[in-house]
Amino acid sequence: MDTLFKNTLSRLVAHPIQWDCPLSGYTSFAIGGPAEALITVEDSRELQVLLSFFQESRLQWRVIGKGTNLLVPDSGFDGVIILLGEGFKGISLRDDQNGRSVSVRAGAGCRLTRISGWCIKRGLAGLEFACGIPGTVGGAVVMNAGAWGDELANILTAVTVMTAAGPEKIEREQMHFSYRCWQDHGGEGKGRIVTEVEMRLVLAKPDAVRRRCAELIQKRRERQPKGQPNAGSFFKNPQGDSAGRLIEKSGCKGMRIGGAMVSPVHANFFVNGGGATAAEVKELMKRVQERVWQDSGILLDPEVHFL
Ligand SMILES: Cc1cc2nc3c(=O)[nH]c(=O)nc-3n(C[C@H](O)[C@H](O)[C@H](O)COP(=O)(O)OP(=O)(O)OC[C@H]3O[C@@H](n4cnc5c(N)ncnc54)[C@H](O)[C@@H]3O)c2cc1C
Repeated sequence: MDTLFKNTLSRLVAHPIQWDCPLSGYTSFAIGGPAEALITVEDSRELQVLLSFFQESRLQWRVIGKGTNLLVPDSGFDGVIILLGEGFKGISLRDDQNGRSVSVRAGAGCRLTRISGWCIKRGLAGLEFACGIPGTVGGAVVMNAGAWGDELANILTAVTVMTAAGPEKIEREQMHFSYRCWQDHGGEGKGRIVTEVEMRLVLAKPDAVRRRCAELIQKRRERQPKGQPNAGSFFKNPQGDSAGRLIEKSGCKGMRIGGAMVSPVHANFFVNGGGATAAEVKELMKRVQERVWQDSGILLDPEVHFL
């Protein structure tokens, strides 16, 4: 990007742009080289202006949430990383439906844990599965995030997305989801940016919702590695099986390449044991895939997205 281009880009947004910004600070793996530019976008109007500019200039871009399901290359990203700012973090109750359920609207930049806490206070049930999932609700739509047999697609009623052409509301019936995937999202980096999410939640007793969340958070604490950066489950579970079980069975628990390690606590978690590079994580992924393939004839499919 030359100076003229940088100046033009700076004039389009209110927030100062971070140039050559290391992305390791923006991913839960704590791995990743610099993005040419990192832009925090304040509101939908600003976002649309930016996307139009990117379309005209053919600049590469990607939106990230909390980077909790992301592996960023050591070479970084040759383009613009978009983060959703404060204007995308509101939560509101929309309407009361028959006194049994309500519609909750959340900005895509809102953390799932914050929405869960908000629901506990108001006695709204349905999102308990997401307690302890550390990403944003925008990322959760693209990932169809889920746990304990439940997933976001089950409570979603609509999303609003932004493209260079403007905002578009998509009803749940028009969306197709599969395990950890919004199928018609449009593709990473080329797709639409989720700006708002609507969910249907059920009225319940706040204490019951609180107890269920506490129970699920406790289960996570018992099963997941603590204190080592990671991106949650590295692979998707193959149908009817568990990636962690297959990895453990093939003897890969604790396997290490440089700073990247298969967690000794949960075999489907790859952890950054200190100074891991993306190349090491990818090499570890390849070795685990090979071992599981040889042992069980199953090719594990990564759940983690690659920038
Ligand atoms: C400790 C730990 C536990 C976890 N447990 C679970 C779990 O139980 N279940 C589960 O499903 N996941 C889990 N995850 C993974 C992760 O938290 C979820 O997938 C989460 O929904 C990702 O949200 P994010 O904001 O971090 O997305 P990111 O990692 O930032 O991005 C993920 C993908 O979504 C895209 N994206 C992000 N925001 C938007 C947006 N607004 N519009 C369009 N595209 C967007 C990105 O470009 C990228 O392709 C866990 C992760 C960790 C670290």
